[in-house]
Amino acid sequence: ESYKRIEEVEGKVEAFLHLNEEAARKAAREMDDHLVSKGVDGALFGLPAGLKDNIVTKGLRTTCASKLLDNFIPVHDATVVQKLHAAGAVTIGKLNMDEFAMGSSNENSGYKLTRNPWNTERVPGGSSGGSAASVAAGEVLFSLGSDTGGSIREPAAFCGVVGMKPTYGRVSRFGLVAFASSLDQIGPLTRTVEDNAYVLNAISGYDKLDSTSANVEVPDYTAGLTGDIKGLKIAVPKEYLGEGVNAEVRVHIEQALTTLEGLGATWEEVSLPHSKYAVAAYYILASSEASANLARFDGIRYGVRVEEDNLIDTYKKSRSQGFGDEVKRRIMLGTFALSSGYYDAYYKKAQQVRTLIKQDFDDVLAQYDVIIGPTAPTTAFQIGEQVNDPLTMYANDILTIPVNLAGVPAISVPAGFAYGLPIGLQIIGKHFAESMVYRVAHAFE
Ligand code: GLN
Repeated sequence: ESYKRIEEVEGKVEAFLHLNEEAARKAAREMDDHLVSKGVDGALFGLPAGLKDNIVTKGLRTTCASKLLDNFIPVHDATVVQKLHAAGAVTIGKLNMDEFAMGSSNENSGYKLTRNPWNTERVPGGSSGGSAASVAAGEVLFSLGSDTGGSIREPAAFCGVVGMKPTYGRVSRFGLVAFASSLDQIGPLTRTVEDNAYVLNAISGYDKLDSTSANVEVPDYTAGLTGDIKGLKIAVPKEYLGEGVNAEVRVHIEQALTTLEGLGATWEEVSLPHSKYAVAAYYILASSEASANLARFDGIRYGVRVEEDNLIDTYKKSRSQGFGDEVKRRIMLGTFALSSGYYDAYYKKAQQVRTLIKQDFDDVLAQYDVIIGPTAPTTAFQIGEQVNDPLTMYANDILTIPVNLAGVPAISVPAGFAYGLPIGLQIIGKHFAESMVYRVAHAFE
């Protein structure tokens, strides 16, 4: 069914980089006998899944949408892939993204342009744009994305699907090609909150192969989906409905708060005073980490090699031809911020700001059950509109980045339409309180 739907709509959406049809059909055929005979009760039995192309898949090309990794075929599966397969899901294919997950519109892919299924003149968001578009277009039942500064939630908002960034450490990053290791998290994109909770059940948990994975018990995320949110306390940061947030978006978020009030929750305005520094701090920290993580792509160990007479020129040519403009911009920025003489003024300062931002969240979440606001300041923008203006592009993540810096979980759920395009409501919770986030999201949905 998935492949039939892909054949119908993929020409318009272009969400996939590579399909896995033969292996998927084989897996689906074998799964029945195999799981049933072993008595395995796979919660995701036979469900078609799409994976962002920065999640490694054994024997299936994994490019991170970069020309540099054009020929890379991993020899193992990421932990999340093993877990999905153990739960019975079938990998349909690998999804388009911004190169190495750097971007907010999918326009930084080294291969193709993915389009928003609601309006093909618009971007799907990024960097997990293929992950959001494929679910919105009905090509797969669910997908996995990765979120470093908003890359699950912003495309989920733009494409009208549900996208969850779990608590940092909740889901193993083993086999996720690292962009900014202290911020990256894998999470599910689905049509409904309940589906999302099922997928997170399957992929969560401690993994000794990821030193930052948390040894914290995984509850059943579907257990709290009762629709009951009576007495819950919601915080609404004034910074999240202020200047820069589109008026239509604001109206929809206010309506959402009225809906939640009708369900018995209460809300109050609060402040996250350091949020205004989040984007600046993020681009220093994320770029610094990226410049170190991407050092391994030298044309020797992985990917496409441009052979020269000596090693240094081989490195230089392979990297300058393999990486796209945005990736180069981040590597230069990060290398600069980490260089001696500038380290204290930039990297160290940004780390200090990060601590203040985290404290803001801890203070508010000590008094409230969840924080609510929009996911993105606008609806999906036109293809080409921001691509030559990196600073405007970076501002799309102004409401999602603080959450990654704080390490807390957050979901984007559809909250109506403006200009014929979906709007996302963001619900942010305490560390490891995904159940509470799902509970509120489900009641609102
Ligand atoms: N848009 C942000 C960036 O370009 C976030 C990306 C992400 O979350 N992977 O860095």
